[in-house]
Parts: sequence; structure tokens; C-alpha cells
Amino acid sequence: MTAIALGTGQLPTLSAMRDPHSRKGEGVGNEVSPPTITPVFVADLLVGEGERMPVYVHVVDHPDARVLVDTGLTQLHPAVADMDPRLSPLSAQADFDLASIDVVINTHLHFDHCGGNHLFTGRPIYVQRRELDDARSKDDYTIREWVEAPGVRYVPVDGALELLPGLRLVPAPGHTPGSQIVVVETGGRSVIVGGDTAVFFADLDEPRTEGQRLVRTLNPDEVWLSHEHQPWRPQVDQHV
Ligand SMILES: [Zn+2]
Repeated sequence: MTAIALGTGQLPTLSAMRDPHSRKGEGVGNEVSPPTITPVFVADLLVGEGERMPVYVHVVDHPDARVLVDTGLTQLHPAVADMDPRLSPLSAQADFDLASIDVVINTHLHFDHCGGNHLFTGRPIYVQRRELDDARSKDDYTIREWVEAPGVRYVPVDGALELLPGLRLVPAPGHTPGSQIVVVETGGRSVIVGGDTAVFFADLDEPRTEGQRLVRTLNPDEVWLSHEHQPWRPQVDQHV
């Protein structure tokens, strides 16, 4: 069910894509490091009586490109003042090099996932077309001026897409109809960056939406979520 939505001619920044077959010889002579995934804390939000929810974005260091999954938020806005955002924007983090990011992926376009898109002008931002259409047309969906910040360039994707060798975008409807997850094969392990497909670990322990069931079906070793400090891992059966 892989539907390649784009011709390679539209992907100038990915033109240095390695021949995937060369990867098979990993460890024989020219060692290629597997991709790594690093969470970056960018904010927290008030979500209940004195309760705060972290907001993370994730950097995937792939041998062929440095990929950022979601961009958090960088400023306050009256529409979300009730969530009292405390910000640690990427643009203010001394050890985060904005220029090092080659490609951006939005899991979805809620305000706490796209608010830093404006920092990445000139880089392609991959999002499901359905999500982009909804963010542009539905009322109270997001903070639209953050989605449509000047210079932001979206690459709408229809369905699944292998963006880089071993790094796939897969639609995961549930949190929003146009949500997607990022599936990364790394050193024989499968790691998912799931956005808000699950907001809490319990959503994956007991999956209810199509997207949550998809994540479980893919049988990942780890799932990084936007609003949890640690990755979710499947429960290991203790009664072997
Ligand atoms: Zn969120």
C-alpha cells in the first residue's frame, strides 16, 4: 500500500539519497550508522488543575538527511492563553542548529506541532494533504497564521511515502483524520514517532482509533509521543 506521491524531481534536498542496496553491506568496510531519534523539549502546556503536559519535537539523524518531526511552538497567542504555554522554542536553544535541519515532517497541524514551521523556510515540510486541507479550511482547528507563516513550503502527501531509505510516512487517522506517523528502521529495530496518534501511553496499551491500532500492528520496539517524556514500549510478557 505504498503510494509514492512525488517524483524525485520535486525533492531537491533529498537528491543525495543513497542507493538503498548499499545499506545491505553495512558493517563491511564502509560502516553506515543507523538513524537515531532524539526528543527535544520545546514547551509545556497547562492541561488541568495545576497539571502540565510537555511538548516534544523529535530529530531523526538519518545518514542521508537530518529530519525534524513537528516544530512545537515559538510564541504565545491569545487563542491558547488558557493553556499558559511555557516556551523553550528551538530558536532559543543554543545547542539546536536550525540550519542543520534538511527536512521537516508535521504529524499533524495542531498549533503545538506546527508553531515553529516558520523557522524552516526553504526546507520542504511533509504533511498529509488531508491534514493540510483541514487546517486551511476548518474553523478552530489550529492557529492558521502559524500554519500559513510566510515562506513556509508544504509538500502534501497522499498516503504512505518512503521519504528516505528505512524512513516512512504512514497515515494514522484518529487524533485528526489527516494525522501521520513516522516509521524508522534503525539497526534492526523499528521505532515510531507518533505525534498525538496516542497522547498517553494508555492509548497504546488499549488502542481504540485506527491510527493507534496501526501503531500496534506495526509491532514497534519504541514509540515516541509528543506529550510523553519517555518512549512507549510494548509490555513484555513476564510469564514466559
Ligand atoms: Zn499535541
